[in-house]
Amino acid sequence: MIAKVLIQWHTKHGRKNLPWQKNFDPYHIWVSEIMLQQTQVATVIEYYQNFLKKFPTILSLANADIDEVMQSWSGLGYYRRARNLHDTAVMIRDSFKGQFPNRYEDLIKLPGIGRSTAGAILAFSFNKKYPILDGNVKRVFSRLYGIEGWSGLTLVEKKLWGIAQELLPDKSIRIYTQALMDLGATICKKNNPECPQCPLIKQCLAFNKKLTHLIPASKPKKDLPIMDTNILLIENAKTILLTKRTEKKVWQGLWSLPEVDSTDPRVWVKKNLYIHQSQIITQGTKTATFSHYKLRMHFTHLNVQIKNDMNQIKNTIWMPLEEIEGAALPSPIKVLIKQCYKLK
Ligand code: SF4
Repeated sequence: MIAKVLIQWHTKHGRKNLPWQKNFDPYHIWVSEIMLQQTQVATVIEYYQNFLKKFPTILSLANADIDEVMQSWSGLGYYRRARNLHDTAVMIRDSFKGQFPNRYEDLIKLPGIGRSTAGAILAFSFNKKYPILDGNVKRVFSRLYGIEGWSGLTLVEKKLWGIAQELLPDKSIRIYTQALMDLGATICKKNNPECPQCPLIKQCLAFNKKLTHLIPASKPKKDLPIMDTNILLIENAKTILLTKRTEKKVWQGLWSLPEVDSTDPRVWVKKNLYIHQSQIITQGTKTATFSHYKLRMHFTHLNVQIKNDMNQIKNTIWMPLEEIEGAALPSPIKVLIKQCYKLK
């Protein structure tokens, strides 16, 4: 019943002209699904089109240098998604002869593909009867069935997956899946859902009990641990020194500002750069919040005059200031640089 209502609703009200809806190519669907994991449709469209222009096939992505992939991802944030895309493309090239797998058991083993993403690929690309349960769909089901707990709790999530499975129609799985996504994104919004426009209003427990503002429950707040780091924004003739983060930790593979042990920046500068002189422009602290911790960045912005082009440190570049915007830098670092230079 619910599936039937949603499928009918989609005919009139669903989104049908998104760029990844042109064909059911699993490569296209996969790229769009990964981009949409943490980002709104309106932002994703341009990135998606540019990404496919640069990497039109899964083989072109697998054979690309990871730096190129990161560069194309620049601005979308959550760079782990880009690394996972590349790793998965390589695995599909090497273990599946370049053909996108169409079995759930294979998809779920690929980096960055969870149960919901696998379901979306199987439903859209292979017309298979598999459920999805992204954030929007969790919200719709929680309200529809009046499920009050936070959807990140194992028991609640299990219940939601049960509903997702139960509601699957035997036919029109593609339209049904798209309709669910569309309803969550355009009608059953987090704040102020547009219930009078909703095709499921009669069945919706949260609406009927006037609980839409309480369901779904928010994630319980807890104090995040704080980590401190000292970073240097070193400027030389309108260029900025960047280092490549090669270690397996946060921001791996991205360019960033040098992170140093000492709180006295001149110690590091003297040791690592051939300079005539250096001058501190400003010092301060900025805090970036991540899902599991807060990063308190104690930064020093300084100007140096280097003697020649020689750097003694590996994996560094002097990047012109005007290229910072388009570069693959972590967003808190990009924001910090832009604030220091009062760039928009
Ligand atoms: S009636 Fe309102 S709360 Fe219920 S599913 Fe529809 S939009 Fe969401």
